[in-house]
Amino acid sequence: MHINENFAKLPGSYLFSEIARRVAAYSGEHPEADLIRLGIGDVTLPLAPAVLEAMHKAVDEQGKAETFRGYGPEQGWPFLREAMAKYDFQARGVDIVPEEIFISDGAKSDCGNIVDLFQSGNKVAVCDPVYPVYVDSNAMAGRAGDYDADTGRWTGLLYMPCTAENGFSPRIPKEKADLIYLCFPNNPTGGVAGREVLQAWVDYANDCGAIILFDAAYEAFITQPEIPHSIFEIPGAKTCAIEFRSFSKTAGFTGTRCAATIIPKELVRDGMSLRDMWNRRQCTKFNGAPYIVQRGAEATYTEEGRKQVMENIAYYLRNAGTIREGLAAAGLTVSGGVDSPYVWVKTPDGVDSWSFFDTLLREANVVTTPGAGFGPSGEGYIRLTGFGGAEATKQAVERIRKIL
Ligand code: PLP
Repeated sequence: MHINENFAKLPGSYLFSEIARRVAAYSGEHPEADLIRLGIGDVTLPLAPAVLEAMHKAVDEQGKAETFRGYGPEQGWPFLREAMAKYDFQARGVDIVPEEIFISDGAKSDCGNIVDLFQSGNKVAVCDPVYPVYVDSNAMAGRAGDYDADTGRWTGLLYMPCTAENGFSPRIPKEKADLIYLCFPNNPTGGVAGREVLQAWVDYANDCGAIILFDAAYEAFITQPEIPHSIFEIPGAKTCAIEFRSFSKTAGFTGTRCAATIIPKELVRDGMSLRDMWNRRQCTKFNGAPYIVQRGAEATYTEEGRKQVMENIAYYLRNAGTIREGLAAAGLTVSGGVDSPYVWVKTPDGVDSWSFFDTLLREANVVTTPGAGFGPSGEGYIRLTGFGGAEATKQAVERIRKIL
């Protein structure tokens, strides 16, 4: 018996536990402190009324023999796949059909599970800073080499720094990449990619046979009309990309759980359809997202549901704008927060991420997320989010301005 030794190589999941430890220590010393949490990566507004109504109806259906549903299709119920194809893709001129959409219980699990489709010899490229799931899931599958604590990087991965110099947009690597994780709008930098940038990635991937794993979890936050919401808006993407979508941030489903992975039929490698492979994988290892939840997700596509969901997104974006504008006015260098709930803030005077985190915690009683926790290129930054309450967000910005 041998365990998967790759797990022994994983560094502790340090970021959020270390934040929690420091916050708890400070609160212990100062129980009177009224902390405002702007590090939060979770939504706070309740589900939209249209979603609740649809889920209540679905609960009632599950209570009657005539309408009760047991196992659903592993790929998701047709009503949700059809709604998504119609409103998220076809309405934007993108020819994605329901058979190419696989409903799941989360983009995190899909991003992690997708590695099942690829051999271990593949060269994996990730952004730095990065949503940690892409890195750790490859490390667990033995395709990241070893973790080097000195550099904070895995020896087998190809890192694409996203820095102020490149506008937080990764450059195409010189070394050939086989699997490329892109996330736009980006967590943690809040950066977006325009049509030309995405076209360059698609052309690169089609030229060399690479596959782009495109995380569109925050697409609903895009406000600038020229920014694509899907990689499939880019000509040629269907032969080189897989897209992940989620209702988590779009519709407040972080605790309700519903997402989707989109794999076009045209995506073929070594004579195998990636769509068919994922279908096989899901049918073997996944038994479908809950019916009640899928009915709730479907309701986000009704006129009323869409309006309610977009009101919540506008609320978070206003908060992000409050942070962005308030901190910029205070002299900090900020980016993101326009097409994203995330604002990426450069620490003043070159102090490191954790020191600035501590200063904000202790002197302003504001909790943030140190950028260094997302990768070495995040050093010298902190991440703030628009997911808090509007009043608390304004107050937090005011407090930060006072101490600067
Ligand atoms: N992708 C990115 C970039 C995220 O930031 C998150 C959640 O924070 C997810 C995926 C996970 O989404 P889900 O809640 O659907 O698992």
